[in-house]
Amino acid sequence: MKSFKTQSKRVLDLMINSIYTNKEIFLRELISNCSDAIDKLYYKGLKEGISGLTRNDFAISLKVDSQKRTLTISDNGIGMTAEELESNLGTIAKSGSLAFKTENAEEIKGDDISVIGQFGVGFYSAFMVADKVEVYSKAFGQTEANLWVSKGTEGYEVKPCQKDGHGTDIVLYIKPDTDDDKFSDFLQEYKLRSLVKKYSDYIRYPIKAEVTEYKELTEKEQKEGKQRESFKKWETLNSMTPLWKKNKSEVTEEEYDGFYKDSFFDYEKPLKHVHVSVEGSVNYKALLYIPSKTPFNYYGKNYEKGLKLYTDGVLITEKCADLLPDYFGFVKGVVDSELSLNISRETIQQSRQLKQIGANIEKKIKNELLDMQKNDREKYDEFFQNFGLGLKYGIYSSYGMNAETLKDLLMFKSAKDGKYITLKEYVEKLSEEDKFIYYGSAKTVDGVKNLPQSENLLDGGKDVLCFLDDVDEFAIKMLGEYSGKTFKNVLSEVAQSDDEQKLNQENDGLLQEIKNCLDGKVAKVKLSSNLKSRPVSLSSEGEITLDMERVLSSMPGGVDGVKAEKVLEINPNHAVFEKLKKIYLEDKDFLKDYAEILYFSARITLGLEVENSQEITDKIINVISK
Ligand code: ADP
Repeated sequence: MKSFKTQSKRVLDLMINSIYTNKEIFLRELISNCSDAIDKLYYKGLKEGISGLTRNDFAISLKVDSQKRTLTISDNGIGMTAEELESNLGTIAKSGSLAFKTENAEEIKGDDISVIGQFGVGFYSAFMVADKVEVYSKAFGQTEANLWVSKGTEGYEVKPCQKDGHGTDIVLYIKPDTDDDKFSDFLQEYKLRSLVKKYSDYIRYPIKAEVTEYKELTEKEQKEGKQRESFKKWETLNSMTPLWKKNKSEVTEEEYDGFYKDSFFDYEKPLKHVHVSVEGSVNYKALLYIPSKTPFNYYGKNYEKGLKLYTDGVLITEKCADLLPDYFGFVKGVVDSELSLNISRETIQQSRQLKQIGANIEKKIKNELLDMQKNDREKYDEFFQNFGLGLKYGIYSSYGMNAETLKDLLMFKSAKDGKYITLKEYVEKLSEEDKFIYYGSAKTVDGVKNLPQSENLLDGGKDVLCFLDDVDEFAIKMLGEYSGKTFKNVLSEVAQSDDEQKLNQENDGLLQEIKNCLDGKVAKVKLSSNLKSRPVSLSSEGEITLDMERVLSSMPGGVDGVKAEKVLEINPNHAVFEKLKKIYLEDKDFLKDYAEILYFSARITLGLEVENSQEITDKIINVISK
């Protein structure tokens, strides 16, 4: 007797003593293993040109022996050698479900059995319903067959055995009934039939079971009061049509959601599904899903986008990345197309058909999202909250090449009410004379609202878009304009009115002196009437805004030397201006301290970094104590 690896033992323990109520899923798990094993052989046959392996020869079967209380699940797939029995079933580390669990260890704390169940518990789930499991297997092309047998945690044995034909028979010795669980249900025809329908209907190979049928009685026999004779017959229990090949009207919401959870290891139901069937220059069917939560590593380097690619029901690759642009990388799903069957992983990329399907899918997703934006705004807000950042990167990283595709999907929070609005909605509220789409950058909506220049715009009935992510302004620079309106950072300089110009000219001496005091920190000092209640603020001239300077210099490996041309704006209606005029006339030496304090308070108001804070506080103390 060999022992299970420690980790396997723990999971096995959980299965055996499981309080997990959904024990019936063992059948789904074992059937799905059978289907995988057949897929492997079928695919190998196609690739290596092995004759005699046609689709119709493959099947999965269920057989019950009520006397012995056994349920046998058989397949004629690829089978396992003695070594494979050992390594695949002796240690659960081989199991896909556990690999998933370990990868997502941060998300799934402890051994929460219900969570394990959500992800597919694999072969060991057999022990939820059986107290002994035998696996008879013969690998394709081998003469020797082997038996793996185990009664649970104490260990397992592998020994040679007799078996006709390649494939695997799994014999479950069903547990005796308890007060809570009627295990003998799993020996009942009707139960097996309903479980196959519920969980395994779209398995692409027939799942056959021996069912009882009754001979029809002739009229004469009926009159004689004869009992109907029963006989056994093999019947296919599943419809074999994968969900995506069915008509939309035949599939329930529950089935769509269930398929998503099972196939893509999510325990939340998806935000939306899109069922596509395209016939034309390319033929394909697809079932696409938008997750309701951001995958924990979505914005990380290791995130792998992609769709499952089948050609005519055979799985070609688990993740075909070419079918999705990066910015729609959140989409999960299945694509089934009639590509030529000898397509291999290497040739996928060159396939023109595949490119066409990819382009088509991209359009579908975009339209679905626009539709959601229009007709189910709450859902779209949720979507954008999760995946909007990726869309903005999509515009930025392509140097604007994807701008056309993505611009209508973008949203920003409105400084007016903190709600998301689209660019279209912003522009619709503008009059013809309005030239600008105003935006401000900060960490929060309130931060944008409190920018000195925003206050004035908001009071004048204008809205300001809140740019809360670093990428926002860079992405928008790629767009340049929307519907003929130009994007404008509220902190970029605005044209002066005649009155303002006059006022500035009158005070030119003072303004020049302040600029000199600031030793090149600013390109210009001016009086602006758009500061409302604030004494000072900063703005920028030219292409590089203050926020872009901040983002660029904070990037890893910092893009230094890219500086905004800063303009110190002073509010002529604020008491501080009178004070400045006075000092300028009476105490020019003191003006430097004043100018620097004003400059730095403007920086602080805008949330910009202040490097020499010690020096500044000294100056403040100096001014206060004077
Ligand atoms: P998973 O299917 O998630 O990988 P399992 O615990 O269900 O994990 O199965 C472990 C491995 O055992 C499978 O990956 C497969 O290699 C092998 N296996 C299980 N059932 C069969 C079968 N019926 N035929 C061939 N191999 C099988």
